[in-house]
Amino acid sequence: MPQAKSSLFEEFRTRLLELSYLESTLSVLGWDEQVYMPQKGALIRAKTTSYLAGLLHQKFTSGAFEKLLYRVQEASLAGKLNDQEKAIVREVWREFVREKKLPKKLVEELALLTSEAHTVWREARKKSDFKLFVPYLEKIFNLKQKEASLVGFTDSPYSALLDLYEPEAQTTSVAQILFDIRDFLVPFLKKIKGSKVKVDPRILRGNFPQARQEKFNREVARKIGFDFEAGRVDESTHPFTTGFHPHDVRITTRFDTRNLFYSLGSTIHEVGHALYEQGLASEFFGTPLAESISLGIHESQSRIWENQIGKGEPFWKFFYPALQKAFPKPFSKIALKDFYRAVNYVSPTLIRTESDEATYNLHIILRFEIEKGLLEGSLQVRDLPEIWNAKMKEYLGLDVTDAATGVLQDVHWSGGAIGYFPTYTLGNLYAAQFYKAAASDILNLEEEIAKGEFAHFLEWLRKNIHLHGKFYKAEELCRNLTGEGLNSKYFIDYITRKYSRIYQL
Ligand code: MG
Repeated sequence: MPQAKSSLFEEFRTRLLELSYLESTLSVLGWDEQVYMPQKGALIRAKTTSYLAGLLHQKFTSGAFEKLLYRVQEASLAGKLNDQEKAIVREVWREFVREKKLPKKLVEELALLTSEAHTVWREARKKSDFKLFVPYLEKIFNLKQKEASLVGFTDSPYSALLDLYEPEAQTTSVAQILFDIRDFLVPFLKKIKGSKVKVDPRILRGNFPQARQEKFNREVARKIGFDFEAGRVDESTHPFTTGFHPHDVRITTRFDTRNLFYSLGSTIHEVGHALYEQGLASEFFGTPLAESISLGIHESQSRIWENQIGKGEPFWKFFYPALQKAFPKPFSKIALKDFYRAVNYVSPTLIRTESDEATYNLHIILRFEIEKGLLEGSLQVRDLPEIWNAKMKEYLGLDVTDAATGVLQDVHWSGGAIGYFPTYTLGNLYAAQFYKAAASDILNLEEEIAKGEFAHFLEWLRKNIHLHGKFYKAEELCRNLTGEGLNSKYFIDYITRKYSRIYQL
């Protein structure tokens, strides 16, 4: 007798749950490694995580799981599943097919190479010597070319890699959007540079004791919706967010006692990521319906809170009095208007992670062009410093003086994360497009924010984005919410409007 559909699907969900328990465990260990683990714990931690990661891979690719997946896929194709179940099968199938295309040997080779490359990159950056890193980066791009051809692609090998972070994004259309942004930003920055308005970011300097910063950050996090009963804030060198389950989401931040925004900005950013994780549907835990759609959509959630909200006038209309009270020196003597301008000061910088909203995406576009060129074979690794420096000059008007603050600044390539960078810009663009839609759906959005009321906005994000998990694909979700696919128009409008006011262009 054929097995009833419900028990087949239940068995499938049980197997998926087991995989998620292992994934959660690995995430807890990864979080602990960056937050609390003592130095001497590194070796046993590496062994533990590699064993568990192997176990996870083994379970996911086992014959038993494959058989079960084929059976639910058959049930799905035969129209025996509901829409949510179909979406679950579709997404697990996607992941499984990709994993199956990569031989174990290639995966292991890449893991070994990138762990070595990471050490070499750190050394090379310390000495500002790109040549040390060249042979490793060449091998990484070689293996990544292999991976791309095994996975398969239609327009560019780059799409096969991008797909891992931004499912179904095509290089050709991403390139078009990025180049639109580039062609807008380069002349726009020249206009800002020529503005008679002088914004002074130095007024934000002061002495901000860490304990008082922590207290203020927590107030902001709570007010905008972070659930402290389903999450924690800790400290780490590089801020990040990790969710083990919607009921247990961790963020980290860092502190600089002279620069308040070093922590506050990154806290709001990570809270944005965390609100997404806390807003996923816990009843679907273990399935793709309780997972984020893509890195671009995830980043849109952090950016919309960090920039559209957290660097906006209404937000500071509400929070500025509390900030003045927490740090009377220097803020009691600074008018809100000057404070707002200083927060949004535009100045090209060599370092991506220190750049402002108006210049940030040029850093990404430069990396995208280089990655794409290397994969497609039109650029060579050894020529990178020259190419990098020329583009920095062209886009941001800056002279790169050494490799450490130039081509060697980011960790991504050493870890084999090729195709990752564009998701930062996609996130910025989605944020602008979503914010526009939210502002037209919510009657008095900015008046509410100015009163410290964030519930409607969060509810909008929850209902339209968070709760769906991977049910919709990114492009589909964007069309549902905004009436059109992702495009550069909204970001360009947002930047133009915001900075034309600040710099009186
Ligand atoms: Mg982020």
